[in-house]
Amino acid sequence: MTETQNNTLTKALAGIVGRKYVRSDDADKLAYSFDLYWVRHLWLDRGHLPPKPDVIVWPGSVEEVRQIVTFANQERIPVIPYGGGTASQGATLPISGGIMLDLKRLNKILEIDVKAFTVTAQTGINGFDLEAELNKQGLTLAHYPASQRGATLGGYLAARGSGTLSTKYGKAEEMVMSMEVVLAEGRVLKTLPVPHHATGPDLTQLFVGSEGTLGVITSAKMRVDPLPEVRRFRSFLFRDFHSAMEAGRKIMLSRIKPCVIRLYDEVSSRRVVESVLGMKVKGSYMIIGFDGPLQLVEAEESIGFKIIKDLGGEDLGTEAGEKWWDHRYDFYFPPHMFALPWMHGTPDTVTTFDKIEDLYAEKHDVLTTKYAEWDLIYHAHFSHWFPWGVMMYDRFVIEDPPQDPEEAQALHDQIWDDAVRISLKHGGVLNEHHGIGIKLGYLMPLQYGDGFEALLSIKDALDPNGIMNPGKLGFPNKITQKE
Ligand SMILES: Cc1cc2nc3c(=O)[nH]c(=O)nc-3n(C[C@H](O)[C@H](O)[C@H](O)COP(=O)(O)OP(=O)(O)OC[C@H]3O[C@@H](n4cnc5c(N)ncnc54)[C@H](O)[C@@H]3O)c2cc1C
Repeated sequence: MTETQNNTLTKALAGIVGRKYVRSDDADKLAYSFDLYWVRHLWLDRGHLPPKPDVIVWPGSVEEVRQIVTFANQERIPVIPYGGGTASQGATLPISGGIMLDLKRLNKILEIDVKAFTVTAQTGINGFDLEAELNKQGLTLAHYPASQRGATLGGYLAARGSGTLSTKYGKAEEMVMSMEVVLAEGRVLKTLPVPHHATGPDLTQLFVGSEGTLGVITSAKMRVDPLPEVRRFRSFLFRDFHSAMEAGRKIMLSRIKPCVIRLYDEVSSRRVVESVLGMKVKGSYMIIGFDGPLQLVEAEESIGFKIIKDLGGEDLGTEAGEKWWDHRYDFYFPPHMFALPWMHGTPDTVTTFDKIEDLYAEKHDVLTTKYAEWDLIYHAHFSHWFPWGVMMYDRFVIEDPPQDPEEAQALHDQIWDDAVRISLKHGGVLNEHHGIGIKLGYLMPLQYGDGFEALLSIKDALDPNGIMNPGKLGFPNKITQKE
């Protein structure tokens, strides 16, 4: 975009939102050229600047969002919806420039209904602030992603997020009742008021996980829960990993509802648990938590703990479990989170109980053998349990990757490719909650098969000019690419 075009764009947007809420200086543009995608940080570290947005805009109403998107569609300018920018797969990157649509001014709670137990809020609201407001009324969204302090309600939905307590309270997709979406051509769509109905596809779920490619989610009605009378955690140690997995599976099949089961494999028990909680453990470490009315918690604990003990789990008591809850976010931030020069990735996935252990074993063996020359460290924990299977949060780390950025990126991408193809081979998915972004888009046709053609048709119907977050989710980029 030439300077004159940029000035015209800035002027047009200022006419919609006011001059104060449009920025196009270099520092702001650079700040919006990143999310937590490792490859971007690698290249910056080696002195290469990434593609920047042309402008950043902060709308203050749904009508302003509608006008911005309508204008962008007429001019064929990309629009990238932006919440907290905590995505890690490049979902917010302005790879073709365009308008960075930061939604943080749309941060109002519109209604809390204490009879229906629902909250309706604008989607730019910060996750931590939303939870704090609900807590004041004795309520909770109970969505606790490790990124809660940075992420927004819109990001929870558009990236199909999972919080720490998803085993009981569900993922964002299970909490959402309905939403309002601004489409690329300027229409404002409201989905059905409740999530269950007979015939007809579910439009609410169409936009869940859409990573800003189908429209801008401007508000959502979410189910909430009462703050629990008690919530308590306990930890156990298993000598062997298989027994620990069996305990998790049997607990889920007993249909009691732990709010969390977090099971660390031997390597992560040693490396991660030790470094954050300061405990020396040898084996597979499990945290389990229950919450709700005291009587219910006691009953569920007695069933759950019996299953664990029958399978050889050694009771480490409540103190370590409570400590884990208090420090649950520390695992993801300095000094415990990996940073350059280390290479790291989280190719997490989810599959059914019959396949998960084979999936884990193959990924572990392939990655540690194939990349032995790089001393690749692989570890996993199992943290979001479903009635039929479990999510595996696995991670690879290379402490001394190649200096040359092209070589480093090629190595990084190859490891990801190997890891994700193993997930798909074992009936898993590209990932459970870290998104697709630009990193995994090329594998979308493989994951969906013929279904991907249907997704392409939906994308074309809702966004014929391809302005909504181009190049993400594997959709072809119709806007001239800048990289
Ligand atoms: C340290 C760390 C820990 C994390 N832990 C978790 C975790 O425990 N659970 C989890 O689920 N995720 C986790 N994540 C990933 C990330 O935080 C989540 O995906 C989060 O939900 C993204 O929210 P956000 O507001 O930051 O979205 P952004 O990063 O701003 O955007 C993510 C995607 O959603 C789109 N988008 C954002 N808002 C809207 C909207 N209103 N309408 C349409 N599209 C929109 C964007 O275009 C982009 O494609 C973690 C990330 C980090 C860095």
